[in-house]
Amino acid sequence: MGRLTAIVLGAAAGGGFPQWNCRCAVCQLAWAGDPRVTPRTQASLAVSTDERHWVVLNASPDLRAQIAANPILQPQQDLRGSPIVAVVLTGAEVDQVAGLLTLRERQPFALYATTDTLATVSANPMFGVLAPGVVSRQPVSIGDRFTPAPDIEAELFAVPGKLPLYLEGDSPALALETEVNVGVEMRSGGKRLVFVPGAAAVTPELKRRFTYADAIYFDGTLFTDDEMIRTGTGSKSGRRMGHMPIDGEDGTLAALTNLAARRVFIHINNTNPILISGSPERQKVEAAGWEIAEDGLKVVL
Ligand SMILES: [Zn+2]
Repeated sequence: MGRLTAIVLGAAAGGGFPQWNCRCAVCQLAWAGDPRVTPRTQASLAVSTDERHWVVLNASPDLRAQIAANPILQPQQDLRGSPIVAVVLTGAEVDQVAGLLTLRERQPFALYATTDTLATVSANPMFGVLAPGVVSRQPVSIGDRFTPAPDIEAELFAVPGKLPLYLEGDSPALALETEVNVGVEMRSGGKRLVFVPGAAAVTPELKRRFTYADAIYFDGTLFTDDEMIRTGTGSKSGRRMGHMPIDGEDGTLAALTNLAARRVFIHINNTNPILISGSPERQKVEAAGWEIAEDGLKVVL
């Protein structure tokens, strides 16, 4: 058995970095090719213990490009085949499920998610291209243990969050601990990693789980709660979007201290100044012991 290994397929939030229609201060650097920033695709993590069977955590709209960028995920043998044996979803947002459409063409794999998330996927007839006889849909309850790939034990856990944007209605509940927004823990050989691309808050239960983790991939969407309002790119606060900010007295830096794990921000919005090398915000995050995910970041535990 090999070691628990994770590759960041995409590090950006929905829309990617730069976002196709954005000229915010950070996107402008990317459009101009400024060396202080590196473009990123939308958030996804690939996990394996043998580097032959891979589990993809969230199927981003950029999945096809992510496979192209990672030879280890490309067909290795036979006429048709893929090292991707399973996909695990943490919710049904567009940037978490749209890549499933890339995985059509009658390739068997297992799709793991909560009953709520699978129901949302199934309610959209377009996902019928993943024929049920080919792609097995595996409902998982919070706390259940499952084995998405050889020697990997996985578990979904509750994370405060909200319904997908396209289902939320006019006044959504913002910090639900339900099955619509979850995190994933992957365990192998005594090592643990957790993947939480969207969190509205850190509960005591989450903090306790993180205490035992060796690597934490956590919601790095916004540096400040009012970032999109202040940059003129949106009308909603981070919390309204189900994402706690990195900075501030109730932000992630303050909430997640005294952890031994390797800590990586992922799902980083294109407005977030931590994307800029040398920025004060980047320096503050790095001084607190956090890494900023880039596409291709590989961690072997
Ligand atoms: Zn932007």
